[in-house]
Amino acid sequence: MASLIARVTSTSPRSPLTRLLTAPLGLDVWEVKPDYVVLQADEVQAGRLEAMGYIVDQLQMIEPYVSTFATEAAVTGNHTVATLEQDLRRLAEEHSEIAELHEIGRSVEGRPLLALRIGERRESARKVAFFGCHHAREWISVEVPYRLAEYLLGNSSSDPVQGWLQQGEVWVAPMVNPDGHEHTRTTNRLWRKNRRRNEGGSIGVDPNRNYGYMWGTLDVSTSSHVPSDETYVGPRAFSEPEVRAVRDLVARQLFGGVLSYHSYSQLILYPWGYTSEAIDDETDHSEMRAHAEKMEQLIRGVHGARYKAQQSSKLYPTAGDTADWTYGEYDAPSFTIELRPSSAMDGGFILPADQIQPCWEENRPAALEFIRSVLGKPPS
Ligand SMILES: [Zn+2]
Repeated sequence: MASLIARVTSTSPRSPLTRLLTAPLGLDVWEVKPDYVVLQADEVQAGRLEAMGYIVDQLQMIEPYVSTFATEAAVTGNHTVATLEQDLRRLAEEHSEIAELHEIGRSVEGRPLLALRIGERRESARKVAFFGCHHAREWISVEVPYRLAEYLLGNSSSDPVQGWLQQGEVWVAPMVNPDGHEHTRTTNRLWRKNRRRNEGGSIGVDPNRNYGYMWGTLDVSTSSHVPSDETYVGPRAFSEPEVRAVRDLVARQLFGGVLSYHSYSQLILYPWGYTSEAIDDETDHSEMRAHAEKMEQLIRGVHGARYKAQQSSKLYPTAGDTADWTYGEYDAPSFTIELRPSSAMDGGFILPADQIQPCWEENRPAALEFIRSVLGKPPS
């Protein structure tokens, strides 16, 4: 069925935009702004939205969107599963005194899930983690944490990086969902989930809805119990091997902070995602909010790009995401950064290749500030 990118607005109090997000409509929501929502829908879904009182403007059909943005040139500068593994191995070999490549698990299709440990002392008490590519189509979310690892290793003999790496460890896992990533490269550029074969014949669980804190407590378009939906939460918490690999790594390393990269929309999100209530603990809440706002300033200071700091559920409700779990279960300050671009018509999930470098450059000081906040405290 023909699929389109639609901009949905509402002038009717009978059908507010918030209801669009809190109903189980099976929509693939791309972008949420105060006065409109951008989503991918087929013609039947679009018709249903109009019948509910929404105004549905077609921005573009999916096919011309993909052929406009997913050009051969747009592949340049992005890792594949294979080149990422090569580059992570090379980094670990070139810096074997402070870096170690770990296989933390295997994907549904048996691909190794890789995490690079960076730090001078093994088993130090202070550790921070960066994850990328829970969602297959979000290619830039591989490149930012990969380049962070490269940067830390390239600058490991000068301060402040040297000092941090003497006191603690940075773990970087740039591609949590390699099966999905491979599928976006070979078959469907807009694939989101992993490659689990679901009961009933559909494929894929959303790895960023499969974590075990408040798992499955919502049933909405952006956190769905329908296996064929883009945000399918899975049959139970931690049903997916990719998510269990992250769970077990976090349980072993007890990170003092976790940052997970996604795209797109240019946002800095902090818990909760599962509820619009703020975190109970006022100190935690104000610290995370202040840290998110600081990252917003740091990012903007590089190339002027605006990333908005906000509570995760303010984007849309999600239960079972990474940050809710690492904060809810471990009290670790936890963030999700939605990278470039800001809108679908600037490429959406298919970021033009010439923006990879500036996107990394603007995220570097925010990532370093996060590392400093976790590892950089003076030794006690
Ligand atoms: Zn994502």
